Amino acid sequence: MSKLQLVTYPASVLRKQASAVENVDGELIKMADEMFEIMYENAGIGLAAPQVGLSNQVLVIDVRQDDLPTYVLINPRVIKREGEVEAEEGCLSLPEIFGEVKRAERVQVRYVDQNGEEQTLEAEGLLARAIQHEMDHLNGVLFIDRLGETRRRLLDQQIRALAESSDGKTREDGR
Ligand code: ZN
Repeated sequence: MSKLQLVTYPASVLRKQASAVENVDGELIKMADEMFEIMYENAGIGLAAPQVGLSNQVLVIDVRQDDLPTYVLINPRVIKREGEVEAEEGCLSLPEIFGEVKRAERVQVRYVDQNGEEQTLEAEGLLARAIQHEMDHLNGVLFIDRLGETRRRLLDQQIRALAESSDGKTREDGR
């Protein structure tokens, strides 16, 4: 696998439904390691495989809270959500763009970990938000899709400018 690179809006891979992972093998572990690297290089707290151009159901998360480990979530699905809370989000694939997004306050997620084992995670606060944001990426959904209409309108020009500046690059890549 060649070195992975961060993909930015409006790359089409960010709008695709990601495929479920069938085998947790060395290749997948290597991909997750590279995703962590890219996430840390860009000071992110989470990254989804489509953000490095791979349409697979894999997320890496590290919200940098002392009591929380790093997570590799493979084929994640939310089995329970509770409460609702609004907070500001950004995205490594939408540089310089921020906005308030409503998310469930707490989620219970079932997933396969990097050892190929099924796990259940109960998350709240920033971890719950990061998981929901990254899981959206697996369904081709971006946080700008979830902004209130007023905020979205305010950001419209910025989002369009980003689309135009990245356009040449994505076309060169043949995407
Ligand atoms: Zn994102």
